[in-house]
Amino acid sequence: MSMPTQPGEPGNAVPEMHPGDAALPGTPGTGEDICPECKGTGKLNGAECRNCGGTGRIVEGIGGG
Ligand SMILES: [Zn+2]
Repeated sequence: MSMPTQPGEPGNAVPEMHPGDAALPGTPGTGEDICPECKGTGKLNGAECRNCGGTGRIVEGIGGG
């Protein structure tokens, strides 16, 4: 009765949303864009940009007209 211990599950990543995200990445009708707060640097005032979570990118809805 010895079960192999599984150290975490790498394939079980949960999509992260940030304050600047309009939707989850991959959502139809949305796309990645440069974070307007940090201009894509991922940093704001010497700290991690909270709008994009330090990624420098946010998910925005694409205006379909
Ligand atoms: Zn940002």
